[in-house]
Amino acid sequence: MDSDRFDRMRRIGWLDMDRISLSRCLVAGAGALGNETVKCMVLAGFRKIDVVDMDRVAGSNLSRCVLFRDGDEGCRKSEVLARRAKDLYPDAEIRPINSKVQDLTEWDYDLVLGCLDNFSARMHVNSHAVYHGLPYVDGATDGMTGKVQVVLPGGPCLQCASNGSHARTADLRFSCTRDSHVFVPRMAAEITTTSVIAAVQVREAEKIASGRTDLCAGGITYYNGEDGTMDTVGLDIDPDCPNHPGDRQ
Ligand SMILES: [Zn+2]
Repeated sequence: MDSDRFDRMRRIGWLDMDRISLSRCLVAGAGALGNETVKCMVLAGFRKIDVVDMDRVAGSNLSRCVLFRDGDEGCRKSEVLARRAKDLYPDAEIRPINSKVQDLTEWDYDLVLGCLDNFSARMHVNSHAVYHGLPYVDGATDGMTGKVQVVLPGGPCLQCASNGSHARTADLRFSCTRDSHVFVPRMAAEITTTSVIAAVQVREAEKIASGRTDLCAGGITYYNGEDGTMDTVGLDIDPDCPNHPGDRQ
């Protein structure tokens, strides 16, 4: 049994390694959260992964991105991430897509994971996932805190959980680095928060891929790394959310 790469995972009853292996996944974002998420995914047996990101590696990424190395600065994040992740699991088929997620035209996936750093891109992915009936696992971090939301077909989405202040900042692109053509406030970020949030995302993705959405965390899971707490807050479909027109009375 020790020759079977996934023997120890097969001992967890509800994990379906065959379905995980066959799930076609999109990871939106190849920054810190994308690095941790893809790392966990390939080690967990996810094999078919597209990674979309338009950015290039910067020196300040290196404190949080497990698959980036000194010397990668200036290279495309999605390409570096795909290449290094394949080192971790050579059977993986990881396709880098060097573009904004808003320019993605193909949504032929079983599962979408959001590892994005700005509200408008996350709303874009959320809307497309809901429209195409795809499960979407969104992750976000801010310094020592973070959150994960699982959006399942027919359930509440990211926009159901958003409010006016979110919308007002929709056009700001929050990032840990500064892009030359976009105003980008630098946000605090730290690897242990990133690791926790990515791990929760991939755990939820394992449930979805295994056909066990009944086990998924409902609502939004909040992590506070300063006081060491994790709480899940329930969420209902917002009747005014434009992503659920069929649910209106
Ligand atoms: Zn909604």
